[in-house]
Order: sequence, then C-alpha cells, then structure tokens
Amino acid sequence: MPESECLILKCGTHGERVPAVVCCHLLQVRDEVLGFVENSTQPDDLQAWCMRCEAMFLVEDGLTEAFRRFNDFKIVCDFCYADIRARHSLTDC
Ligand SMILES: [Zn+2]
Ligand SMILES: [Zn+2]
Repeated sequence: MPESECLILKCGTHGERVPAVVCCHLLQVRDEVLGFVENSTQPDDLQAWCMRCEAMFLVEDGLTEAFRRFNDFKIVCDFCYADIRARHSLTDC
C-alpha cells in the first residue's frame, strides 16, 4: 500500500476523519482531568498524552519500551481528539 498523505480513519461516531493519536488514559478516563500535553510540531500531525505520560516520558527520557507500554497509544479521529482536548485541558483551579 503506498504511503498516503490523506490517511483516513473511520470513526464510529464521526465517520471518515483524519486520524489522531492520544494515550490510553486520555481516551479511557472520563471523570478526571488529566491534562493535555500536545507533542507534535506539525499542525496536521495530532498527537497528545496526559500529564502522567509526560512525567513518565521525562523519567524514561524518551520513547522507551516501558513508556510505550504505559502510554499505550490509541488512534482516534480529529473530532474525538478535539473532544478529548476540551475534556482534559487544565483550565483553572
Ligand atoms: Zn497518559
Ligand atoms: Zn470521532
């Protein structure tokens, strides 16, 4: 399969969308604000993880095996990504 610039993800909620990547915590935890750390340098490359993953990443000093296991990346669509960002962003105290 050729590398495609317009990769399409089929989201159960939003249909065919652009894929984005979040850690499993951001996706699964819904009753707690975990923080939302975006770690992409490109605007069309959506990637984020929570504060726990950020702390783990700093301790591990890179994308180690242990970090990948802890982080357990999940693919979501860009709409879901925006929802997750709204839910987990640390706004005020
Ligand atoms: Zn996380
Ligand atoms: Zn979606």
